[in-house]
Amino acid sequence: MDCLFCKIVAGEIPANRIYEDDEVIAFNDINPQAPTHALIIPRKHIDTLNAADESDKSALGAMSLAAAKIAEQQGFAQSGYRTVMNCNEHGGQTVYHIHLHLLGGKAMGWPPYQDTLKTA
Ligand code: AMP
Ligand code: ZN
Repeated sequence: MDCLFCKIVAGEIPANRIYEDDEVIAFNDINPQAPTHALIIPRKHIDTLNAADESDKSALGAMSLAAAKIAEQQGFAQSGYRTVMNCNEHGGQTVYHIHLHLLGGKAMGWPPYQDTLKTA
């Protein structure tokens, strides 16, 4: 399968891994948007959140638990952080292997967009 993140899971493309367990791996985003910007991905390929099913519940939960563990390791669990999963075009998804963004190390604004609200 021609998937960038499957190749990172397989070790065919290098990534700076900061966490791994049976279900997920995490590595630093190549284009960081915060002092810490990690991507947490399931070892199993899932295109989008829409494609996840009941059998993926454990992996989806493992992604969130990994985010909290990494936040603790990096020292910003108490000050706070953000997790985001983008889905499809309007969500801003560009890599079609689901991933949870973990952003921490600075205070972030809300709402997270500056663009005009789209209704379509
Ligand atoms: P998204 O737009 O939600 O699909 O996020 C994809 C993320 O993957 C972006 O933040 C990219 O900077 C990041 N990314 C793309 N290629 C790599 C790579 N080879 N290693 C690490 N992060 C990457
Ligand atoms: Zn994949």
